[in-house]
Amino acid sequence: MLVVKKFGGTSVGSPERVKHVANLIKRSVQSGNKVVVVVSAMGDSTDHLVSLAGQITNNPSPREMDVLLSTGEQVSIALMVMALNEIGIDAISFTGWQANIKTTCVHEKARVLSIDPKLLLNALDEGKVPVIAGFQGVAEDNSITTLGRGGSDTTAVAVAAAIKADLCEIYTDVKGVFTTDPRVVKEARQIMTVTYDEMMELALLGAKVLHPRSVELAKHYGVVLKVLSSFDDCPGTEVREVTDMENRNVVTGIAFDEDVAKVGIIKVPDRPGIAYKIFGSLAEENINVDVIVQSISPDTNFTEMAFTLSLKDLHKALKILEVVSKEIGAQGVVYDDKVAKVSIVGAGMGDRPGVAATMFKALADVNINLQMVSTSEIKISCIIAREDVKKAVKAVHDAFNLDKEGFSCG
Ligand code: ADP
Ligand code: ASP
Ligand code: MG
Repeated sequence: MLVVKKFGGTSVGSPERVKHVANLIKRSVQSGNKVVVVVSAMGDSTDHLVSLAGQITNNPSPREMDVLLSTGEQVSIALMVMALNEIGIDAISFTGWQANIKTTCVHEKARVLSIDPKLLLNALDEGKVPVIAGFQGVAEDNSITTLGRGGSDTTAVAVAAAIKADLCEIYTDVKGVFTTDPRVVKEARQIMTVTYDEMMELALLGAKVLHPRSVELAKHYGVVLKVLSSFDDCPGTEVREVTDMENRNVVTGIAFDEDVAKVGIIKVPDRPGIAYKIFGSLAEENINVDVIVQSISPDTNFTEMAFTLSLKDLHKALKILEVVSKEIGAQGVVYDDKVAKVSIVGAGMGDRPGVAATMFKALADVNINLQMVSTSEIKISCIIAREDVKKAVKAVHDAFNLDKEGFSCG
């Protein structure tokens, strides 16, 4: 079997962990698999690099941030190859650019455009284990890019698609995908199988366990994806097209995102083209907008607009919106940088009444105020005060009895 194995930060967080993972790779090679490895930076070394930049400037050049952050993964590939060599496994490291991972030129948020698998396949033919740096690539202008925090998962799936691997395994520090973050709700249970669509929503809505674009790519290219632990020998969670859970589970899981800010534009003239002007100007600067609410005002000439975005983009967005709000004749811009989003996801919720009401009651019972709500066929998201987020997740997890569904391994 041709398999891509990706190991996250904690899984390679120390020399001991690197050696442990090398042994895990060795066992797979010895059982006859062809293995390609993708690794993240060790432990929280990417956070350290971010903080180093912060000690130099408040406004680092995105291009240079990518040069800096990509160094973390380069350390891991070299150490991993050394560890494999030590136990008699022939291996060779590849940075993102050496592995021909071409991306868009949007620094810190680049998307993979293509991977030329020739060098990787040659290495495999020579009996070597290619070890690729996750999270990084190269843009057309030859500059180093990174794929956004958590992006090594996406590297792994993109490589799996490019070499037509049979399986892509994402090894992490939990046993699989759970009904919610098991570090926040100890009653959370493991989900054995989850659909691409549900997993994509969970990831987009804040479940860090997989980078959202890795799931998007896996669905698009039909890559069979597994999330499993590098610490315990447990079956893990399979992400695939259709599962039995789809029929059973109205709510599969709960995600939360604390990286959220809310922006409001007050007294916006109510005429065609205004929303385009506001959101177009943000999109031009690559700022993603999430929950959008346009409310009815007693004065039909005006409306109120509110939306959420990533906290990281708030200052840039405010600068743009101050200008746009003047141009369109709105009264002004207000914001709240202390909000969070709690979401329930489930392929079976679309045609079941009462799901939203159950969520709202659970939040009301613990005295949490809903600031904004957004829904789709398979999710309901609520914007609430950030200080309430853990209480909210626990309450909603309880309300849908998620502690009683699912699987427990050891
Ligand atoms: P890695 O470094 O291996 O990429 P991450 O920290 O990116 O690991 O992702 C794993 C973490 O995701 C877990 O430690 C857990 O706290 C968090 N997490 C959030 N939601 C979930 C969920 N629904 N299921 C499992 N883990 C989750
Ligand atoms: N090292 C990067 C990060 O910490 C990428 C990753 O771990 O996937 O975000
Ligand atoms: Mg991760």
